[in-house]
Amino acid sequence: MVFTHAAVGLALASVAVVLSPEHATTAALAAVSGGAFPDLDLLAGQHRRTLHFPVLYWLPAFPALAAAAVVPTGLPVALAAFFLAAAIHSGMDALGAGDELRPWEATSEEGVYDHLRGQWIAPRRWVRYDGAPEDLLLTTLFAVPGFVLYGETVRTITLFSVILAAGYALVRKRVPEYFPERLQ
Ligand SMILES: [Zn+2]
Repeated sequence: MVFTHAAVGLALASVAVVLSPEHATTAALAAVSGGAFPDLDLLAGQHRRTLHFPVLYWLPAFPALAAAAVVPTGLPVALAAFFLAAAIHSGMDALGAGDELRPWEATSEEGVYDHLRGQWIAPRRWVRYDGAPEDLLLTTLFAVPGFVLYGETVRTITLFSVILAAGYALVRKRVPEYFPERLQ
């Protein structure tokens, strides 16, 4: 779920609070954006494929991380946080359900598309479906560093995301009734 991906990105970016405090907020905002970014393909293109690159996002992520380590200024830090969060999002989608309208029915074998091999990675279903109780638990746990380590802006975004995630989890199974298109 998009909130979990954003929270995971934020938790990773929180190492910047220790390593590069002056760029911690930049890292946090870029990580939240990068964590959410792949799911924009819900709106256009094919979900879990058009903007999901479980392998290829690492190509810009590694040099950006190296650049951020050598020259810890705003731009490399932001790029590193963005691409790292997007890469992890794409990889993590394979640990959940497949891309289907009612993922708890577990009928899809399309977890996330691997553009490098030109094939779908099968869903592992460690998290049964987006918005499942275990998904909300992950969102909440990964949100802790963002809430504890950051100032007001990031805290507010974090809290708001957890509230939205909880609301989504509550109505998740009714979503297909209202949105006939794929949504996850
Ligand atoms: Zn996704």
